[in-house]
Amino acid sequence: MPELPEVERAARQLTRAALGKSIASVKAIHPALKRKLSPSQSRAAKGKRIESIERRGKHQLIHLDSGDTLVVHFRMNGDWEIGTTADALDRFARAAIELVDGTRISLVDRRALSSITLDKKGTSSLPKLGREANDPSLDADYLRSALARKKIAVKPALMDQSVVAGLGNIYAAEALWEAEMDPRKSAAKISRAKLEKLVDAIRLVLSPKKRLPGRYTDKRGASRFAVYDREGKVCRRCGGTIDRITQAGRSTYFCPSCQRG
Ligand SMILES: [Zn+2]
Repeated sequence: MPELPEVERAARQLTRAALGKSIASVKAIHPALKRKLSPSQSRAAKGKRIESIERRGKHQLIHLDSGDTLVVHFRMNGDWEIGTTADALDRFARAAIELVDGTRISLVDRRALSSITLDKKGTSSLPKLGREANDPSLDADYLRSALARKKIAVKPALMDQSVVAGLGNIYAAEALWEAEMDPRKSAAKISRAKLEKLVDAIRLVLSPKKRLPGRYTDKRGASRFAVYDREGKVCRRCGGTIDRITQAGRSTYFCPSCQRG
């Protein structure tokens, strides 16, 4: 699932292709997308200029000169494909933004779970979002207050977008491994020292130095993750075996040998 680094990259790609240009049409192609973007909303975007593009959590906000905003969420598999209106449409294109200069930005998504919606000027459909996971002001104090009332384990708490925006199943697990923290630990009971270690770990797993070619693999196709999707494999830090458990309906990967704090 695209999380902060992937959505950030997609927003930059969109910015390069579309910033300052005017929209010829916004088309919902798949029935699931048609339910999210009505014909009148599509019409409202037509002819409008794209003033700015912003990432907020895992959402991409396309601000139009009318004051309206197109809000895009990739969910599990979405991505942009940039081409021209002369190209054949990708078979998994679920929506397309066509620009007056002939650029076509397709929202491709094998599973069609992505969404594109329109917020009218002065309104916002975004859920409550916490501080951005890559915000320099995200610190131990912030995490302590955001986690204080969470009566759940730290892993699902970190995935709660109202606590930290942009972290999901992959980077929450990776950050906990970096911090040598047990994902089952109670979110409200983490010491100050451990919260500081966790903040450093979140920064590290999201740092551009960690971003290699491909979404989740390096050039050779090997996983670039320490624990995510590595059940039964050897822990790179302690030689223990990576385990998988279920928390809040999602798989959590961790090393029971060294994530004990
Ligand atoms: Zn280990």
